[in-house]
Amino acid sequence: MSAPPQTVARVAVPVPLPRLFDYLPVPDQQLPPPGSRVLVPFGRRRLVGLVIEHGEPEGQAPKGLRPIERVLDEALIDTELLELIGWCARYYVFPPGEAVNLLLPGALRRSREFRAPPPAAFELTEAGRQADLARAPRQVEVRELLLEGPLTREELMTRSGAGAEVLRRMSEGGLLRSLERPPPPPPNAGPRLNAEQRSALAAVLRARRRFEAFLLAGVTGSGKTEVYLQAARRVLAAGRQVLILAPEIGLTPQLVRRIESRLGEPAYLYHSGLSEGERLACWQAARSGRARVVVGTRSAVFLPLARPGMFIVDEEHDASFKQGDGARYHGRDVAVLRARSARVPVVLGSATPSLESLFNVEQDRYRMLRLSQRAGEARQPRWRIVDQRGSRSSLSPELVEAMGRHLGEGGQVLIYRNRRGYAPVLMCSECGWQADCQRCSAHMTFHQAVHSLQCHHCGSQRPEPRRCPDCGSPALVALGAGTERLEEEVAERFPDVPVHRVDRDAMGGKHQFRRLLERVGQGEPCVLVGTQMLAKGHHLPGVTLAAVLDVDQALFSADFRSPERLGQTVAQVAGRAGRGDRGGEFLLLTRHPEHPLLESLGRGDYLSYAAPLLEERRQARLPPASALALLRAEAHDAQPARRFLADAAGLLGGREIETIGPLPAILTRRSGYWRFQLWLQCDSRAVLSNHISARLAAIHELKSARRVRWHVDVDPLDL
Ligand code: ADP
Ligand code: ZN
Ligand code: ZN
Repeated sequence: MSAPPQTVARVAVPVPLPRLFDYLPVPDQQLPPPGSRVLVPFGRRRLVGLVIEHGEPEGQAPKGLRPIERVLDEALIDTELLELIGWCARYYVFPPGEAVNLLLPGALRRSREFRAPPPAAFELTEAGRQADLARAPRQVEVRELLLEGPLTREELMTRSGAGAEVLRRMSEGGLLRSLERPPPPPPNAGPRLNAEQRSALAAVLRARRRFEAFLLAGVTGSGKTEVYLQAARRVLAAGRQVLILAPEIGLTPQLVRRIESRLGEPAYLYHSGLSEGERLACWQAARSGRARVVVGTRSAVFLPLARPGMFIVDEEHDASFKQGDGARYHGRDVAVLRARSARVPVVLGSATPSLESLFNVEQDRYRMLRLSQRAGEARQPRWRIVDQRGSRSSLSPELVEAMGRHLGEGGQVLIYRNRRGYAPVLMCSECGWQADCQRCSAHMTFHQAVHSLQCHHCGSQRPEPRRCPDCGSPALVALGAGTERLEEEVAERFPDVPVHRVDRDAMGGKHQFRRLLERVGQGEPCVLVGTQMLAKGHHLPGVTLAAVLDVDQALFSADFRSPERLGQTVAQVAGRAGRGDRGGEFLLLTRHPEHPLLESLGRGDYLSYAAPLLEERRQARLPPASALALLRAEAHDAQPARRFLADAAGLLGGREIETIGPLPAILTRRSGYWRFQLWLQCDSRAVLSNHISARLAAIHELKSARRVRWHVDVDPLDL
């Protein structure tokens, strides 16, 4: 008997249900092939979906099925990518409908036609050179800039301060001509690689026609970027595409310019800061192969590529590669899978590799390539752990002394503090009242400049109280120091030196941040005080002294990843010091100078710091030594959330799977929701995911599921 004809298309539809939906072909047409973009009726709505496979109708008789309304694009997504997304949906246990969100840019998720994006770059026309612009000072500035040659739209807007409207008017008036691609940067071959770099490069190049995963580990400034760009150049020369993933915060114009000038190709960007049209343009260019170099944040890992030749993940340890909602995938891990299915190499680079990747090296899944020295003339900074006990100011005397010395010698100083605002706690010194968020289990941060209390978890705000709401005393004190207070203290100590605060409050837009970086890049002595924004990725050659303040909380956190993150932050900040030819200095301020973690960190070698952490994880059977997934639940009351998780635990427990909990999340209450989690652990990742998937439908049907919001997070980063 021959197989029955395949009569329906199984379609991924963007709804949060754990299944595909069956549709008949458009009347009198063939079934559209897998990967086709289709418009389908769904309830009373019409949705854009993707055909994943063909099959026999499940359950219902074909009569009850509805036909596809329209085929929008045939075979838009290739089989390799469809298989990858199917694998991800099973492994990360997300609804298959998420495939639509991951594989299609926003513009293709709607049925209506899309308006063309603004041009990527501009050049001056002859009319533009001649025009009398006496009454239009903005236009004069635009012209001044373009007299030296074409510029990208973004650069032009940043540097001239002109808005989209000005550019549009000038284009319509024939003064500007738009260019489809940004002008290619002047090529620059880069430095001659040193011996370690050369052998790393050779290892990657030997693998360029097969799959191999490399962990390129080397301190900041050791020349990792040079290595992977040289490898990329060879891949491009063979006519293949290169996809580079970078953390949200690390995807800077500096990095992009450097990539372009080394590779001699325009880099197509893909990140959430782009307009829908710009994303669509990049998506199409990647799919057609026109974009030979694509640089993007995590979501770029799902871009269609005509001829993938190599994947690169810069700062592979960065937490922003993990998506926090919807499809909770890890961009780095998906990049490795993708490289494997495309049979090409993948290079993961970091000065502070994740324990996950170090574990994979140990298991012979990845190959480690080490760069042990700073490249060129730059040297490692000198380290000092400063005992802050007894110092009443947040800036200890040792730090102030070192700042004075470095500023006096013409250096720049970077102070890292992982907390914006003026003070993390506002307290009544009479009765001990503290300003807490009413919706979260957390203190509110005091922001003096805007006279308000703000919750950094839920965003709620209140005006600064004049008196204690409990006892009426006016004696309210701000405890601890955030970046705002540090900025104030630095300015008091060093009134003649410019102080720049770099955090989300001070840096309204990315343009402002870029302008600041440009200014700081000119090298005049200054002090930078900032959060994460400052710690990562930016080349700040003038910084000779870096300091990390208030790490102590991290030493005693309940999160098992805390020591790893602490070490990464400290090493990354230390790496900011002395990147130029001057040797740098690094200070770590703590009230627990004898803490073993700090002693180990103080030796200044991240890999020796990380090795015992990995051993501890193994002892405790924690990731990456075992697989972990969380079933999270939240509700306005604690009881329903606990109840649901207890019911689910009954379904999920098994011989191979250990369930622990329900346990409260570290931030137990957020935005009015009580948050609990069930830990699911297993020795094998595949077994764990399969086990959960197989019980997902039953969990959906639990009566107690109706009263909570819940989801599964495989390989979670937050507890
Ligand atoms: P990483 O990516 O490891 O932080 P980079 O590749 O950014 O390091 O290199 C840091 C700096 O050193 C850059 O300015 C780079 O151009 C320079 N550099 C890299 N390799 C060499 C080399 N072999 N000789 C001289 N300078 C180099
Ligand atoms: Zn009080
Ligand atoms: Zn809150």
